[in-house]
Amino acid sequence: MILVLLGPPGAGKGTQAKLLAAEYGIPHISTGDMFRDHKARGTELGKKVQAIMDSGGLVTDDITNEMVRDRLGRDDVAKGFILDGYPRTTAQAEFLEQLLARAGRKIDRALSYEVPVEMVVERISGRRSCPKCGAVYHVSQNPPKQTGYCDRDGAGLVQRDDDKPENVKKRMEEYAAKTAPLKAFYAGRGLVSDVEGVGTPEGILAATKTVLGPR
Ligand code: AMP
Ligand code: ZN
Repeated sequence: MILVLLGPPGAGKGTQAKLLAAEYGIPHISTGDMFRDHKARGTELGKKVQAIMDSGGLVTDDITNEMVRDRLGRDDVAKGFILDGYPRTTAQAEFLEQLLARAGRKIDRALSYEVPVEMVVERISGRRSCPKCGAVYHVSQNPPKQTGYCDRDGAGLVQRDDDKPENVKKRMEEYAAKTAPLKAFYAGRGLVSDVEGVGTPEGILAATKTVLGPR
């Protein structure tokens, strides 16, 4: 099963992708996580994308597509995978389609998480994550047991640079201009299902499973 998750930053795609990956036993592939990992490790690629990511802009299609091509060359994608934060432009969507076609595969569904814009801003501004294990919290909706520290490993939680208010606006603009049109792209292929993205993570997971039908 190959799924693409659509929706604005803060729509809860990452949370749902993790839950779905566990549910179906297939990998969660987040280009944002992959770029953050490169940044944290200080790789060549990480240095190249650092400034653009921190400002809330999009990394170039060539760099992003190349990284995804590499990732989809690994064995663990054989049964399927969940894409979160990719594709983000029409050029990426076309690249992905061709890459899959060459392997005789195609996307099964593009899930579009529908969330009001005020809620998205509230989710992003309260989001905090663990630099050590990647766990994601929210200051009021999903707080850790001890304020500011990860439940799993006690590391101090941080706010992503691109989640800071001055950069959120830029990300929303990039989303509206470049990524929102992907819904029409996939609708044209009969692949889009809307999912109501408001509620608890478990409730939204249940709505997602209903949309996907029995597996
Ligand atoms: P995310 O965690 O998905 O919000 O991604 C964080 C940042 O990584 C984005 O704001 C972009 O700078 C970069 N990024 C992630 N995925 C992509 C993509 N598919 N295309 C371009 N840039 C991306
Ligand atoms: Zn942690």
